[in-house]
Amino acid sequence: MNILFFNTKPYDKDSFTQENKHFKHNIRFIEAKLSHDTVALIQGEPIICIFVNECVDRALMQRLSQAGVQLITLRCAGFNNVDIKAADELGITVMRVPAYSPYAVAEHTLGLMLSLNRKIHRAYNRVRDGNFSLDGLLGFDFHGRTAGIIGTGRIGALVAKLLNGMGMKVIAYDPQHHPDSDALGIHYVSLAELFTQADVISLHCPLTPDTHHLIGQQALQSMKQGAMLINTSRGALLDTKAVIHSLKSKHLGYLGLDVYEQESELFFEDFSCDIIQDDIFERLLTFPNVLITSHQGFFTQEALQNIAKITLDNITQFEQTLQSKQPLKTINKVT
Ligand code: NAD
Repeated sequence: MNILFFNTKPYDKDSFTQENKHFKHNIRFIEAKLSHDTVALIQGEPIICIFVNECVDRALMQRLSQAGVQLITLRCAGFNNVDIKAADELGITVMRVPAYSPYAVAEHTLGLMLSLNRKIHRAYNRVRDGNFSLDGLLGFDFHGRTAGIIGTGRIGALVAKLLNGMGMKVIAYDPQHHPDSDALGIHYVSLAELFTQADVISLHCPLTPDTHHLIGQQALQSMKQGAMLINTSRGALLDTKAVIHSLKSKHLGYLGLDVYEQESELFFEDFSCDIIQDDIFERLLTFPNVLITSHQGFFTQEALQNIAKITLDNITQFEQTLQSKQPLKTINKVT
């Protein structure tokens, strides 16, 4: 079956072309993101592949159905950008890559924490500018401090393990406790306790209607003065305006983001010669204690290879179930 890949970057093309030598699918790569304007680029392909920042709402899903699309395969873990109910009603299967390298995201999370604390991003610029002063670069020992992990699934558990290894006390909130929590040194508490006790809070839960703006004004007010907040999960877990307010009042001490509520307008593209219109994002960039990366937590060689392999395997499984007329039984199918 023919597959149309939307939103392809050179690194996607490289990893998928390499991995497809083992699968031999018929892939057409295009750079355009999937949208109402680009849906017409589908030339009879029954399978499309999209990424994390393409929003497929009910109206777009209907147009995909009219174009004969039978499978949307997401080359990412999160699926909050796709209307799964609409897909189900229209008979379109949605598949994803639930896990490809939790290490990649966990290690990037640690990188944000260490950089923010020791101001490595600022020191880098200073030293290159011949400024060897240490004023304003004072950090703190992570050892002996308390880390609060929200969501102890694949990534959150790894972050807990890394922080525990640095001598931090790790407390966590997750409605489902990790089976190895004792070995990982995780001590579960209520969300309210986590906010009041943690020096460093890291978000690793999915974005759902329940977790939308989980970190709002009330949560921020209950955090310790000077706390560090890290979000490598999904942008809308934070109420960004409330976070800016807390930074301005010097209550929130540090903010590290790899995701942003309105990132689909910005991330993965080069706007260095443009005027960025998002005033909230631009305000965030003015704070010296804010460090933002553009959704690169996943971006390691191992993760790209696994994403390609699992996505192409999803397509093979889908084709096989169509031929055998058996239901598709895999955890990679989004329901
Ligand atoms: P996972 O499914 O293994 O773990 C998620 C955990 O969150 C589960 O243990 C679940 O019980 C818990 N959870 C659900 N609702 C919760 C709530 N209300 N409060 C607290 N915990 C809750 O997922 P994962 O593989 O660890 O990924 C975590 C998130 O990381 C994903 O949802 C995704 O948004 C994000 N992610 C980001 C990148 C990146 O590049 N920055 C890459 C991959 C994944």
